[in-house]
Amino acid sequence: MGLSEIRARMDKACAAAGRAPGDVELIAVSKVQPEDRVASVLDQGHRIFGENRVQEAAGRWPAFQECYSGIILHLIGPLQSNKARQAMEMFQAIHSVDRPKIAQAIARLAQEMGHCPDLFVQVNTGEEPQKAGVLPGDVDGFVAECHALDLPIKGLMCIPPVEEEPSLHFALLAKMAARNGLSGLSMGMSGDFERAIAQGATHVRVGSAIFGERDYG
Ligand SMILES: *Cc1c(COP(=O)(O)O)cnc(C)c1O
Repeated sequence: MGLSEIRARMDKACAAAGRAPGDVELIAVSKVQPEDRVASVLDQGHRIFGENRVQEAAGRWPAFQECYSGIILHLIGPLQSNKARQAMEMFQAIHSVDRPKIAQAIARLAQEMGHCPDLFVQVNTGEEPQKAGVLPGDVDGFVAECHALDLPIKGLMCIPPVEEEPSLHFALLAKMAARNGLSGLSMGMSGDFERAIAQGATHVRVGSAIFGERDYG
């Protein structure tokens, strides 16, 4: 697979769902991928990338940013308070806001820095103990808390449990977002982005289907 095939599949999924082709933003998840694969996707004109770790992103993106203009980075992995400043300097969007402490840290820094990335609240739709994210029952309260802190909450994000039908989780996330007046839905990965688009995804996070399998060795 590759970038152009994923774009074509996204357009098809949009058409099938009665949505405009430009309706869904593709975040190319470059975590762990070798530089040459990332450069190849940049050379094909893509500019929106997702990274899991602040440290890894800080190590590789400044060099790319010297050679390619208009790069937009999304943080899709967990965020520690002590990395919040660095994350807010480097990323245009953060998809992993999931607890009051990090919301408060971001709010404080946003005041000081005079800008704030777009934010998504991560929801643990499957209520999995090992997984990050606000529990479904806590979403409305947490979103209200974020609004009270003046945070620019754009929408909700989820990573469904691997062994369950993701569409049910996508539908649940869409319902929670609508109920809270949020238009952004960050959902869908390599194996299920078409189903996410059918359920209203505005941002899909696709890694291995664009770049190839990740080699953690
Ligand atoms: C790694 C990752 C992705 C991309 O996963 P693929 O299956 O390679 O598409 C998407 N979202 C998050 C949060 C990730 O950590």
